[in-house]
Amino acid sequence: MKVEDKPRYLSKSACNRCGDKERFNHNDKCCTCYIARRRRIREQEKSPETRARKKAYLQTPRGKELRRKVRAKTYQNNKDVARKWKRKYSKDPKNLAKILQWTTFRSTRIKDATPPWVKDDISEQVVNIYRERDSLNKEAGYVKYHVDHIVPLVNKKVCGLHVPSNLRVIEASENASKSNKWITSTEPSWPNIPQLKLIQ
Ligand SMILES: [Zn+2]
Repeated sequence: MKVEDKPRYLSKSACNRCGDKERFNHNDKCCTCYIARRRRIREQEKSPETRARKKAYLQTPRGKELRRKVRAKTYQNNKDVARKWKRKYSKDPKNLAKILQWTTFRSTRIKDATPPWVKDDISEQVVNIYRERDSLNKEAGYVKYHVDHIVPLVNKKVCGLHVPSNLRVIEASENASKSNKWITSTEPSWPNIPQLKLIQ
């Protein structure tokens, strides 16, 4: 609801600044002055200086964290819209090349991440992990589980391998929130990798 439309009442005493008597129910403030003040703040927010300051803040680690939180919350509150948009996006022939590029990129990465010493029995173990996921999903009745690369395949500092010891079945929601980040503190320790906090 717009602030202009919020319920008002008529006060006995007039406003010191403008002399009006109408007040808002929700905060007891003079309607004329309150609306004018809100408008001033809004104008100020539009000014190039404020915009530049906001933009700069969003580049700092704190700002990035804030933006990440806001985005996650917006997504949680608008999941249906996001899904609809995604479906529409993937069906648009204009975006086909982009999607193909990503899926091809992913499958090439998996190929690259499979070391040459992977023998048939190891491939069989990998396949079994995917089979485990499939049977769990069948049981759940929907895609509840994903196969996760513990050390991600795509990351600025580390590149995980597509081998059984780096694979596990986790719930899809957990996998989506992890994305390509790798948090060592909660992961099994890996040889020769220094302690890192959060890699993006
Ligand atoms: Zn006033």
